[in-house]
Amino acid sequence: MITALLWIMLGLVLMECFSWWIHKYIMHGVLWEIHKTHHRQSKGYFELNDLFTVIFGGAAIVLIFLGIESLDYRFWLGCGISLYGMLYFILHDVLIHKRLNLLGRPKSKYLQAIAKAHRAHHKSKEKEDGESFGLFLIPKKYFREEGDI
Ligand SMILES: [Zn+2]
Ligand SMILES: [Zn+2]
Repeated sequence: MITALLWIMLGLVLMECFSWWIHKYIMHGVLWEIHKTHHRQSKGYFELNDLFTVIFGGAAIVLIFLGIESLDYRFWLGCGISLYGMLYFILHDVLIHKRLNLLGRPKSKYLQAIAKAHRAHHKSKEKEDGESFGLFLIPKKYFREEGDI
């Protein structure tokens, strides 16, 4: 059981590192044409950028399927990636971008800092000059009291 938890945790940590990297170097790089739909006003409910969610979700499902019989590391890693995806959706899509009107303003200091860091990321509508590419692991400066950065 401990091993399962460790794999889930590893899935979470790896996904934060991997999505930071892919966001900074790929989405704001060669795949900007897709990701820019998230930085500009979108017309409908969905944006082309949602494709990344589908790809990450697909990878998690494949891992879960591969490991489901022996309940090995692939299964738990897939669970970790799925959990990351769900947390990402709740924080990024619901709490910050209000794609579903379920949650009000974040109350905890940590969630406020996350929202602030992500707003800073969205200040730039362009491919370059971005900051704060991660979601959960953010620089200390965003924890400072009042005032926008
Ligand atoms: Zn971005
Ligand atoms: Zn965003």
